[in-house]
Amino acid sequence: MMYACPVCNGWNEMQEACPQCGQSLQDYGRTGDFYGPYSPYRPIDDIRLTNGIPDVRLHQCIHTCYCAHCKHKVEITIEETRV
Ligand SMILES: [Zn+2]
Ligand SMILES: [Zn+2]
Repeated sequence: MMYACPVCNGWNEMQEACPQCGQSLQDYGRTGDFYGPYSPYRPIDDIRLTNGIPDVRLHQCIHTCYCAHCKHKVEITIEETRV
């Protein structure tokens, strides 16, 4: 069974609104990408050491988003879908 983030895979556009001004947010990519290539097989301890977000276990993808209107940066959780 595999889960995949629809935004990372290009199936859906990021459709979140800025919590401060309501303008649409720009997707800056998956937050965990700062720590190297995505691997769904990393041990849990390794995940905790890298970014502190148990995204693999919960089947959620954390994206860093940016609002060009008010310069607000926010992390958005994307629910991964089963493929
Ligand atoms: Zn994603
Ligand atoms: Zn904004």
